[in-house]
Amino acid sequence: MSRKPVVGVLALQGDVREHLATLPELGAEAVIVRRPEELAGVDALVVPGGESTTMAKLAARFGLLEPLRAAVADGLPVYGSCAGMIMLADRLLDAPPDQVTVGGLDVTVRRNAFGRQVDSFESQVEIEGVAGDPVHAVFIRAPWVEEAGEGVQVLGRVVGGPADGRIVAVRQGNLVATSFHPELTGDRRVHALFVDIVRRRLAERAGAVAGNEEDQ
Ligand code: GLN
Repeated sequence: MSRKPVVGVLALQGDVREHLATLPELGAEAVIVRRPEELAGVDALVVPGGESTTMAKLAARFGLLEPLRAAVADGLPVYGSCAGMIMLADRLLDAPPDQVTVGGLDVTVRRNAFGRQVDSFESQVEIEGVAGDPVHAVFIRAPWVEEAGEGVQVLGRVVGGPADGRIVAVRQGNLVATSFHPELTGDRRVHALFVDIVRRRLAERAGAVAGNEEDQ
């Protein structure tokens, strides 16, 4: 049997606790990541919702930006929710000119996209890879994906209302991002989708190591 995946939660700022509580319910070990050494010890990472401008500044200050970029380039599975989606985006709109991101997702993300007047908004969103009822999505000063590159799989869009058709869930390789906060609703299905990706990568790597050992 394969070992339990260790999933880090980037704990610089934001709704860290909710992710730490959700992940063990899916059979993953959840640990806090604040330092590069801690990042090096995880099989995957969740970047929570919060305030992306603050999170980005803290990531730079804690010396995490470059290690995070290197980990993403190396194929580390990362799930970003809300501010986490912003952190994973290659390009931002409505962001301060000096706001940096980890990047890796070939998307243009608009911050606070649902309108400054509407602080939060809820909707039912069908997510590809999530079976059963649509996900009850809670958006809090949320971004959306304004444009997605060719290699990006759109997992979900808003249906109806002024944001009709807007992209709010995407996947590219081992990176997953949602505009909304599944960790706040008790619905674990988006996290389950992510933990599946993490398990698959662990199994692949274990296979690769076993293969190398046989070669020797
Ligand atoms: N508006 C926030 C930002 O730009 C994101 C909000 C959230 O994560 N709930 O970082």
